Formats: sequence, structure tokens, C-alpha cells
Amino acid sequence: MCQAFARQARADRRRAEERRHIRAAQRAAVRAARIRGDRLEHVPDRREFPCAFVCADCGQLHPPIDPTTGNPMRRHADAVPRPEIPCSHCGSHGWIDLANVAMADVLRDSERAHARKRPRILILAPLVLSLLGILVATRVDNATGRATRFVIGEYAIPLWLLVAIALFGVALCVRLWQRRRHARRLPHRWSLPLINSSGRRRRGQVVSLETLHAPLTGRPCVAYELAVHTADEPKAALGNFTLVEQRCADLVVDGCSYRGTGVRLELRRERIELDPTNEAHRRAMHIRGLEPVGDAFTVYETIVAPHALVAVSGDETTAMLRIAA
Ligand SMILES: [Zn+2]
Ligand SMILES: [Zn+2]
Repeated sequence: MCQAFARQARADRRRAEERRHIRAAQRAAVRAARIRGDRLEHVPDRREFPCAFVCADCGQLHPPIDPTTGNPMRRHADAVPRPEIPCSHCGSHGWIDLANVAMADVLRDSERAHARKRPRILILAPLVLSLLGILVATRVDNATGRATRFVIGEYAIPLWLLVAIALFGVALCVRLWQRRRHARRLPHRWSLPLINSSGRRRRGQVVSLETLHAPLTGRPCVAYELAVHTADEPKAALGNFTLVEQRCADLVVDGCSYRGTGVRLELRRERIELDPTNEAHRRAMHIRGLEPVGDAFTVYETIVAPHALVAVSGDETTAMLRIAA
């Protein structure tokens, strides 16, 4: 019980810290936009097409809103439509509009600063040190046959001090391990059902009335995953990705129907060479607030082709989908 509260408090603190980062980024973006507005009139402040929104608190993406289909009451001459619903994951209303070029730049910089991984040695060093301390502390005194003190040259270190050092080491280990455990588990930007379904497994050809198009290559498909990483690590943990976006059409497999919004894809990621001169590539990246040049992203676009042979486990509302071997 107590632990749950402590965990919640930690999560709140982390979230508050993130919010501070975002606010600072927002201020910087406004300043940057002003400077650019003063000096260079031809640098676009906004993308000329609608872009996705990203939740400032958890990174969930909201798809672009077509200004012509927004709420008609809000359709003014130059009003930019914004999502009117809170984030379905964390309840935040803090949507960041990725069509704001300066804002997207600052957000990317902030994500890059967070990408550095904590070296494993920081976790292992105190553990090893504390174990050594305990080993040393249990050295047996020859005269009494009991562990009392450890002697280096002419200095006698009392046993209690060694035990205290060892305990401190263990406490440090636990602290670091907890921090690691509570580290980011989601990509910086994500859009996928967070489920862990293990229902009945069905195998068969996928049937769907709807055809989706993969964002970069435009390949027709019934489902796709777009993943962006700062290195070529297709099997990395979800939290290490810059972006993971999954879309799935409503589908039928082996006579059982599945709602697309609840299907989590488990696909072997396919690397796509990003071509900055390709308009579709540029646009797909810009819509998600990413830059196709300069950031050296590795992009994976994986599809489930129409009529592919798949294995689905779960029920109508939540299911996992794999390509059948
Ligand atoms: Zn932070
Ligand atoms: Zn959120």
C-alpha cells in the first residue's frame, strides 16, 4: 500500500519535472518564433498542412485535425483547430501542436537530451562495493574466533562502520534499481494500444473491408507500424524509440472479428531508407514533428499486407497480432 503511494508520488514528481521542461521549451519556442518573425519573414512558422499533436505529459500522439472538418463553431478565418478531448492515457489537456515548427524543434532537442542512457556500471558499482564491504567485515578475529574488526596496517576499522558502509551501498543499489525500473517505458511519441492480451489464438488469412496506406511508402495494407530510433536497433525496448505509431483496420481472422483500435502489432521491423528529397517521406516525418535531415534517424515501416497470413490472440476489443510463420 505504502509502496504504491510512494510510487505514485515519484511518478507525479517526474511528471512535474517534465512539465517544467515543456514550459521552458514553449517559452523558448515563442522567443525563437519572435526572433524569426522579426528578421526572416520567409521562414515558415507553421507547416502548411495539419500535423499531429503530442501530449505534453505522456507523449501520446493525436492525429492531425483537418481544419475543414473541425467544429464549425470554432472555424474562424485563421483559428487553428486543437483536440478538444483530454489525452486518453493520462488525462492531460496539454496538447502540443507539431505544426508549430519552432516548437517541434525545441521538443526534439529536449528528447535528444533525454536519450542518453544511464550506464549499467552505475548500478553495479555500489552493489559490488557493498558485497566487498560485507566480505571484509566478516573477517574473523583469530583470538576470539568472532568477527570484530578489520585491520589495515595500524588502523583498526570497527566492524559497525563496515556494516554501515555496506548498508549504505545496498540502499544506494536499491534506489538506483528503483529509478531504473521507473524509467521511461514508452517511446517519446507513441500511438498504440497498451495491452497485454493472452486470449484465444487464431490463425488465418486476414480479411478487412478497409485499406490503410503506410505513411512513408504508401503501400496498401491492413495494418502498419512506423518506428523511429536514433540508432539502428529494431529490437530495442519500446522506451528507447523516438516514435512508435501503430494503426490497424477492423479485421476478421478465422471468422472472428477484431476492432482495429485494440490490436497491438508485434512485427519484425523493416528498415526504410529515408530519402529527404522524397516529398512523401518529408511530409510523413514533418506531420510527426520530426526532421528527415540532420537528426540521422533510423526509420522502420512495417506493414501487414492485405490477405497476409496472421496469428491473433485475444478477443474482439484487445488482441495481439503477428505475422504467422
Ligand atoms: Zn526531464
Ligand atoms: Zn497523455
